[in-house]
Amino acid sequence: MKLTALVLCLALMIPAAAPTETERYVALTFDDGPSGRFTRRLLDGLMEREVKATFLLCGYRMRQYPEITARIAAEGHEIGLHGYSHGAMDAMNRAQLDREIRDCLDLLPEGCAPAFLRPPGGKSGREVRGAAEDAGLALLAWDVDPRDWATSNAQQVEKAVLSKVRDGDVVLLHDMSDSSVEAALVIVDTLLSQGFRLVTVSQLAQIRGVPIVPGRNYSRFPPV
Ligand SMILES: [Zn+2]
Repeated sequence: MKLTALVLCLALMIPAAAPTETERYVALTFDDGPSGRFTRRLLDGLMEREVKATFLLCGYRMRQYPEITARIAAEGHEIGLHGYSHGAMDAMNRAQLDREIRDCLDLLPEGCAPAFLRPPGGKSGREVRGAAEDAGLALLAWDVDPRDWATSNAQQVEKAVLSKVRDGDVVLLHDMSDSSVEAALVIVDTLLSQGFRLVTVSQLAQIRGVPIVPGRNYSRFPPV
């Protein structure tokens, strides 16, 4: 074997994306969708930047936008559940909770096996934890919340995230308005320029060696 070929072979054997201690990660999460053009615009922007995110979807919206739901999965993003009706899960009885979860699962694209449930508003309790656990789902909270749903000012959302975000954080956003999508893409560009990697929540847990256990609650995955 010629030396150049040998060097090439050795180079190919080295995993290109092996995480190092200096690498920093953030998981962006988007609640309440899929919506129409907002989710499409967000997906276009994420694809352009080769970035993956996590979408916590509502059942009644998956029913309305099955093609966008399928696109989210096909493009390698993670899908989690956000309830069927977006009703307050902490006020539901066990039968209602089971139905909310089952009706969402029925609408997911084939082969999509979600790991997380994020109850609307993050409102949980013993019943919600029990229903999630029995469905094989962990609960997903967050630790950076720019309250993007309460403003149409994208810069305000960008600043709220970028001034707080740290390695291992889960950021809460919504793909439900132009300002949220605009802010999300600026946040992605800024974090990428700072050397962060944007990954799904399950990827982040795996990178940090944190097992995802059904019924447990997760909000961030800091470096150990
Ligand atoms: Zn919500």
